[in-house]
Amino acid sequence: MDYLPIFLDLKYKNILVIGAGDVAFNKIKLLLSTHAVINIISKNLCSEIKSLLSQKKVFWISQKFKTSYLKNVFLVIAATNNTELNKKIFKKCSEFKILVNVVDDQSKCSFIFPSIINRSPILIAISSCGTAPVLLRLLRQKIEAMFPKRFGNVAKIAGQFRSIIKKRFSNLLERKRFWEKLFNSVFVQNIINGKEKEAICNLEKMIDKPDALIGEIILVGAGPGNSDLLTLRALQVMQEADVVLYDNLISQDILNLIRRDAKCIYVGKRAGIKSITQEKIIKLLIFLAKQGKKVVRLKGGDSFIFGRGGEELEAAKNANINIQVIPGITAGIGASAYSGIPLTHRNYAEGVVFITGYKCMKNIKNNWPILSDSSYTLVIYMARLQALEISKQLILHGRLKSTPIAIISQGTTINQEVIIGRLDEIDKIFKLIVSPSLLIIGNVVALHKKLEWFKDFSNTQNIKNISSII
Ligand code: SAH
Repeated sequence: MDYLPIFLDLKYKNILVIGAGDVAFNKIKLLLSTHAVINIISKNLCSEIKSLLSQKKVFWISQKFKTSYLKNVFLVIAATNNTELNKKIFKKCSEFKILVNVVDDQSKCSFIFPSIINRSPILIAISSCGTAPVLLRLLRQKIEAMFPKRFGNVAKIAGQFRSIIKKRFSNLLERKRFWEKLFNSVFVQNIINGKEKEAICNLEKMIDKPDALIGEIILVGAGPGNSDLLTLRALQVMQEADVVLYDNLISQDILNLIRRDAKCIYVGKRAGIKSITQEKIIKLLIFLAKQGKKVVRLKGGDSFIFGRGGEELEAAKNANINIQVIPGITAGIGASAYSGIPLTHRNYAEGVVFITGYKCMKNIKNNWPILSDSSYTLVIYMARLQALEISKQLILHGRLKSTPIAIISQGTTINQEVIIGRLDEIDKIFKLIVSPSLLIIGNVVALHKKLEWFKDFSNTQNIKNISSII
């Protein structure tokens, strides 16, 4: 991090602005909203600044800049078109340890202005640290769109009730629950729609009769690894969690999005490695929820697809604990999309079957004839250990040896690798690829060549064809 974002209290502080053209005016406008005392040094003033002066909103020193003007100044803006003068101002301010910003010359700034989304008292400040202003503008547009204009009033009204709520709920956890409940209720919508009186009624009712504060378990699918593929709802509950129990397929990028104060507990299981049992995970989930905590159970992909989410929810229900389920993008959907392989296509496949290769031989016994029907795409999770047997059985039951297959490892992440080959080359391909990996079998795989789009990261070898390797 090259800069630390902080929020300065400039009320009644002396600010010196050197220069009085349009550029200076823009900064002055912003600074005026902080109730700072603004002194302007310049021989001439642009018309807008003249108008501010006539309204007694700023002070004017009609002189050339002198070092003595820096006395008792908290912050300086140099907005002149004289490069030498700007340089001198920067040097002097640095000497006197005064915050200084030479407009449009980042090398002569001890701080930079962020782009601000103002929903006072909520302020969102973003910056690209000077690297990509246009990108920043796009980002800002998105954030502006996320928060309605009256959003700040939600915080303002909540702020007015803070001490009452503090007295009413002396327990920190109860208080937190109250606020979460309030902010997830019609209270917010009423304020956004300008119905503040109604909103205050909502709040007062909730103070009088807060429902029993009870914990809950929220099963959240975190998607296949790329944090951009989290759902908005997943992100919201990750931000509200007291405790998060997460699996080994959850990437660090995703973990970084969990509320900082939440307790994160790793409960990952990997085939062949001794780890926590499913029984213990369930016990822990229930134990935490019974303490009144909001427990997020974070799983890779979607919790209901080979994720044992159903079992955990059943146990929670049996223990009378409130539950929610937030779907995630399962690896089969994510990895195929990021490899340009449509799982169904009118000219290639009528349907798609998701199966697991783990203990596959035992579970699908009599299904080989169906799975070998070339009008279906097969998406096989955890296929590595049984890969050879899967290909043998499919060929035996009628799939062509030349059926195209794709093995996608670390799908959707920047380390994604896709290897394309034939069904009878399956074991050779698996030897080339790291976990987690997904197997796709069927004619749709042929479309990858034309539709691939996610590549060209640092590793230019990302997309390979087995025939070029062996
Ligand atoms: N619930 C998860 C699946 C868990 S089973 C989901 O819906 O995606 C774990 C298996 O999923 C792995 O062995 C692998 O086959 C597959 N998998 C998970 N993430 C993957 C990824 N990013 N790329 C390829 N395969 C992945």
